[in-house]
Amino acid sequence: MSAKLDSNGRPRVLVVGGGFAGIGAVQKLKKADVEVVLVDKHDYHTFQPLLYQVATGLLEQTAVGHPIRDLVHKQPNARVHQDTVTAIDLDAREVRFSELEPLTYDYLVLGLGAEVNFFGVEGAPEHAFPLYTLADAVRLKSHVLKTWEAADRNPALIDDGALNIVVVGGGPTGIETAGALAELYHGVFPKDYPDVPPEKARIMLVEAGPVLFPMFKPVIRTYAEKALRKRTVELILGDAVKSITPTRVTLRSGTELAAHTLVWGAGLQGNELVQSLGLELARGNRIPVGPDLAVADHPDVYAIGDIAAITDAKTGQVLPQLGSVALQSGEHAGKSIARRIEGKKPKPFKYRDKGTMATIGRGAAVLQTMRGRTMKGKAAQAAWGTVHLALLPTNEDRAKAIVDWAGAGLTHQRVGRITVETDEGDRAKART
Ligand SMILES: Cc1cc2nc3c(=O)[nH]c(=O)nc-3n(C[C@H](O)[C@H](O)[C@H](O)COP(=O)(O)OP(=O)(O)OC[C@H]3O[C@@H](n4cnc5c(N)ncnc54)[C@H](O)[C@@H]3O)c2cc1C
Repeated sequence: MSAKLDSNGRPRVLVVGGGFAGIGAVQKLKKADVEVVLVDKHDYHTFQPLLYQVATGLLEQTAVGHPIRDLVHKQPNARVHQDTVTAIDLDAREVRFSELEPLTYDYLVLGLGAEVNFFGVEGAPEHAFPLYTLADAVRLKSHVLKTWEAADRNPALIDDGALNIVVVGGGPTGIETAGALAELYHGVFPKDYPDVPPEKARIMLVEAGPVLFPMFKPVIRTYAEKALRKRTVELILGDAVKSITPTRVTLRSGTELAAHTLVWGAGLQGNELVQSLGLELARGNRIPVGPDLAVADHPDVYAIGDIAAITDAKTGQVLPQLGSVALQSGEHAGKSIARRIEGKKPKPFKYRDKGTMATIGRGAAVLQTMRGRTMKGKAAQAAWGTVHLALLPTNEDRAKAIVDWAGAGLTHQRVGRITVETDEGDRAKART
C-alpha cells in the first residue's frame, strides 16, 4: 500500500460525497488514526426523503439541508472542502476536482450518490422537473407558485391546462410527490386562489407498468391507489411518457395531456463519474462491491450508498437505493477502514432492514420489509417518522424535525410557499 501520510504521519482517507453514506463513513472514522478529507460539491448535506415537502411548501430549505461543516465540528481528524469531483484515477490513486489541487489517498470512499435517468424521453432533460436535489425541490416549488400567479393574472392559461401537473413514476418518489401536490392543490390553493375552479387544476400520475408500487404486495398497492384517488390524483397506468414540451405531455398511446409541469420521479442511474472508472458496472450504472463493500481489484476503494450495487448477504438480492442502506453501508466502510488501520480484519456488511416506505399524505403511509411484513395508515406513518429521525445527522436536527413535522401536521400551514428571486435582473428591476 502506498502511504500518503499527512504532516502527523497519518494515512489519508478521502471521502467523496457528503450524503447519508459519506457522512456515515466520516463519523465512524472519528477515533481512527487517519486524516479524513470529505469533499462535496455542496456546502450542505441533503435529506432527500423530505425534498417533496420543500417542493410543496410544507418545509423550509433548512429543514432538509444541513451545513456539512457542522457535522465534523467535533471531529479533529476531519477536514471538509466544497468542490466538484471531475475525475477519479483508481490506478494512480488520485482524485481530481474543479478547483482543488488533485488529492491522492490511501483509502477512497465513493459516496457520490445517483442521478436522474430520463431514459431518453424527448424533451425531458429540458422541460421535466426532477426531484433529486434541494435545488430541484426549490425550482419545482417556484415554478408551481409562479404558474398559479400567472394563471391568476391571466385566466386563459387555466384553460390551456397551466395548473395541471403530470407526475411520472409509480414508485415511492412519484407517489409521495403526487400525494403532497394534491394536498397543496386541495388544501391551500383553493383559499389562496378562490376564483380557480378546482376541476381545472388536476394532478395526474403516469406509471408505465400495470400497477403502482410494483415492489410492494397487492394489499399495499390497493391501499396506495385508494389513498391517491381519495386525494383526487388521477392514475394513468400501463402507459409511458413519450415526449414533453413546456405545455404538453405525449404518452406512448398517443394521448396528449395538457400540463405546464411534469415532475420526473421515474428512475435513477449511478453518478456519471462511475462510467469513467474502467469498472464493470451493475444494473443502473451502479458499482458492484464485495461483502466488505470494497470494489473488485481495488481493496482500498469502497463504494457505498446509491452509487453501489450491494448484494444482501441474507437474500442474495441487490439492496434498494434507500437512506438506511446508504447510512449503514457508509458506517460499515468507515468502521472497516478503522479496523484495518488497527491491523484487524474487516467484517462483512450485514444490512438491518428498516423496510421500504412512502407517505401518501397525512395519516396515509405504507411500509414493506424485505421479509414481506407490511404496514399501512397511521402505524406506517409513525414507523416512517422513527426511521427518518434516525437518518438525521444530529440530535439538534431531530429535535427541529419533530417540531417542524408536528407543526405542519397540526396547522396544515405551508409556510414555505413563497418565491424569492436572487438573480441580477430582479435586483436591477427593484432598483429602477
Ligand atoms: C425524492 C426522494 C425521496 C426519497 N425518499 C426516501 C425515503 O423516504 N426513505 C429512504 O430511506 N430513502 C429515500 N430516498 C433515497 C435516499 O434519499 C437515498 O438512497 C440516499 O440519499 C442515498 O445516499 P447517498 O449518500 O448514497 O447519496 P446522496 O444522498 O445522493 O449524496 C451524494 C452526495 O454526493 C455529492 N456529489 C455528487 N456528485 C458530486 C461530484 N461530482 N463532486 C462532489 N460531490 C458530488 C452530492 O452533492 C451529495 O451530497 C429518497 C430519494 C429521493 C430522491
